[in-house]
Amino acid sequence: MNARIECSPPVKALIGGEVLTTLRRTADHYSCYSCHQPGNATRARTNVIVITGTDGPPVIQLAHAGCTPSQIVTLDGPTTDKHSFSRGEDVISMTTLWPAPEGPLAGLIIDRHAELSIVFGHGDREDPWLQLLLDKQWALVLDANQDFPLVSTTALELDGPGRVTIDAPDAQSTVTLLAPLPDPTPEWITAAATRGIVRVYAGDIGLRNHPEHDAPNAVVAAIAAGQVAGAYIPVTATT
Ligand SMILES: [Zn+2]
Repeated sequence: MNARIECSPPVKALIGGEVLTTLRRTADHYSCYSCHQPGNATRARTNVIVITGTDGPPVIQLAHAGCTPSQIVTLDGPTTDKHSFSRGEDVISMTTLWPAPEGPLAGLIIDRHAELSIVFGHGDREDPWLQLLLDKQWALVLDANQDFPLVSTTALELDGPGRVTIDAPDAQSTVTLLAPLPDPTPEWITAAATRGIVRVYAGDIGLRNHPEHDAPNAVVAAIAAGQVAGAYIPVTATT
């Protein structure tokens, strides 16, 4: 356990003891949140920074102890508007409809590039976004035909432009996972409202690297790489 990684009480309350334990067990090389220079959590005191915005779950970063204290950085707008977060924070999403005997099932694919994940010196990376989903009852998808849990931590609102929310790590509030919905068709909205659930794949899927018609292959490849979480989420409001 690495005692050089320090975390202020508010940060610990937000990310939870388990995430902190994981960080202390696994973090080594990182790029400092403050000065952007390399750091090594096994060699020098390191502070945990959490960045929260309005467009997604908090992002965990590390910083040299001398650069900035352990703190929660709250951005006014979407984190995508901030220069230092412009890389990797963009989300691509698409809707899909699966035929089923009991009526079509509405599906949603949420692709968020994991460039902001904590990359450790030995090349392993931890995607805090995927980890958040797994911490909130989502299942790691190991097979394209796998069944998913119906989760209570995540919900889809159909009203207006629509959005998907998930419980924050502290379980005291919810954060937006996706908004707006990616242009759902009337058939999709009807299917979601009728069935009351939506099947969701989320993770670092790499849709941007695939032509639109090739999305199924992108999902299959990302599943094989262990980068996708899945869940059935309840529809909480209907138009
Ligand atoms: Zn630094």
